[in-house]
Amino acid sequence: MRKEVPFFRPFIGNEDVEEVLRVLKSGWLTTGAITEKFEKEFCRSIGAGNCVFVNSGTAALHLLLDAYGVGPGDEVIVPAVTFIATAEAVEYTGAKVILADVDRESMNISVDDLARKITERTKAIIPVHIAGVPCEMDEIMRIAKERNILVIEDAAHAFLSFYRGKHVGISSDGAAFSFYATKPITTGEGGMVVTRRREVAELIRLKRLHGIKYEADVNGDIKRWKYDVVTHGYKYNATDFKAALGISQLKKATLMKKMRKREVEKYVELLRDCELIQLPVVPPHTDPSWHLFVVKLKVEKLTISRDRVIEELKKRGVGASMHFIPLYRFSIYRDRFREEDFPGAEFLFERVISLPLFPSMEDQEVEYVVKNLIDILEAYRK
Ligand SMILES: *Cc1c(COP(=O)(O)O)cnc(C)c1O
Repeated sequence: MRKEVPFFRPFIGNEDVEEVLRVLKSGWLTTGAITEKFEKEFCRSIGAGNCVFVNSGTAALHLLLDAYGVGPGDEVIVPAVTFIATAEAVEYTGAKVILADVDRESMNISVDDLARKITERTKAIIPVHIAGVPCEMDEIMRIAKERNILVIEDAAHAFLSFYRGKHVGISSDGAAFSFYATKPITTGEGGMVVTRRREVAELIRLKRLHGIKYEADVNGDIKRWKYDVVTHGYKYNATDFKAALGISQLKKATLMKKMRKREVEKYVELLRDCELIQLPVVPPHTDPSWHLFVVKLKVEKLTISRDRVIEELKKRGVGASMHFIPLYRFSIYRDRFREEDFPGAEFLFERVISLPLFPSMEDQEVEYVVKNLIDILEAYRK
């Protein structure tokens, strides 16, 4: 039996290496034809209208907010439980971050609290599909439409997640995907803007590279030295060799999801009867990407804290983690928010543990994680 199981192991094969090498040797390193190809293939893979490849998921979120004109004086509602990047992208625009509490079961933004947090200044809502479990998008879209509020999805975890039979990320005003090392597919670092609105995509295409527009002359030739800057932009473009990795990752994305899902089934089979944890709850009308496998400790029945369970697992060679520290607990937000206002997030903060999950995980690795988790919990049963 294995004595160590990492939290994550990348799934990079020779086919990925060869695609990247081919582009590295092609003579074109920065944004070019391979980026365009990746965008087309990503659009096709989820049925999206327009896709723009950028250098991170955070940049993708920022560009969407910026292109829709979110700025100073506006409020943007974000769930209290997410990665800091979601709120950070809002801060970039000068708009105010408003936190909504989260649902104890799904860990996603609470639709009730979201509705309560809307004011006349609310310009956008950013639902985050935590762990790849889709948010209640029908309700969120309905609330947003009634009040003319934008919905920008943080789909960093949700590539190949389905909501009511449809791909996540194509039904709102825009979605940001992340290709960070551990995400459902990776380009090392990278992100994708997805939007139905063609003019928004075109603006973002300009903004990702300084707002530069090249003009073709009467013969259709583009003069690279003679350009205009037509909008305020950023340095958010990505490279063609990253796009090459993205294309080859796309080819095996469904396989990688299947592999993760298989290990999730193994976890569920082995943990189903454990009275000391609660397994993830998947709403019946969804099919998650299984980016993370998050269990909740039944702390009422235990004399050990979540933090110590993670440390005990580490001693036994198991790389567990937790997603996420609620944003109001960070130094930068402590003065603006109170813990008492987020009972759902506090409930989760005491209980959640992310167990190792990655495509190349083996059954015996799942068995090793489960055995150690159960040993630890049983030793501290009340
Ligand atoms: C990873 C992540 C992001 C940001 O993605 P990057 O590509 O790392 O910038 C945004 N939101 C969530 C919830 C994430 O997990």
